[in-house]
Amino acid sequence: MIRFRLFGFPVTVEPWHWAILAFCGGALKIKEPEDLLPVLLFMAAGVVSLIIHELGHALTMRLFGGRHISIVLHGWGGQAASQGAPFSRGQQILISLAGPLLQVACGLVVFIAVAMSADTSSGSTVLEASPVYQLLYWFVLISLWWGVLNLIIPVYPMDGGQILHGILGPRRIKLTLQISIIAAIIVGAVGLIYLNMFLLPIFMVFSVVENYKALKRTRTPGGW
Ligand SMILES: [Zn+2]
Repeated sequence: MIRFRLFGFPVTVEPWHWAILAFCGGALKIKEPEDLLPVLLFMAAGVVSLIIHELGHALTMRLFGGRHISIVLHGWGGQAASQGAPFSRGQQILISLAGPLLQVACGLVVFIAVAMSADTSSGSTVLEASPVYQLLYWFVLISLWWGVLNLIIPVYPMDGGQILHGILGPRRIKLTLQISIIAAIIVGAVGLIYLNMFLLPIFMVFSVVENYKALKRTRTPGGW
């Protein structure tokens, strides 16, 4: 468990978050000591990218008067939570948008900076082999992939699902959860069959179960 403060927000990175990042970074394929560095670079890029994502939510919450805002990175992603007066639907939509948008913007800025420095460098192959380049490469890839995925998939508790809830409103919560379940089944199947992915379908199964339980209670699971 790692705890620190960033822009005044308490940030917690739970052990499961490191474990999932290590798995995604290829920790199971480590055979030689030199295989460790790429995994550590992936983990570092992932944790920075996800903290930027949650920072986007947290800063927007603060802008709208949120208090006691905290950030937690857990197994499947992250959560920025606020106490105090509830946000309006419009504010909730903007808070949900801010995380992935800040994450994607940072990914694009780093991508442009790396592309420009690679063009002016005489030895781009040397640059590509360096750990700093690998770190930035993973940062760009994770930021764009996770940011866009979170935004476009209307599945709770992802940001796309939060935005859908903001648009449809609390009265249509059942519809939001039903759309969430259908979208999770479709995304999970596409990930498994066409993209040969492993973790995304598991995450979608987890989402279907959580949304189904919420549908039974007709309540929303929280979090951004
Ligand atoms: Zn988010």
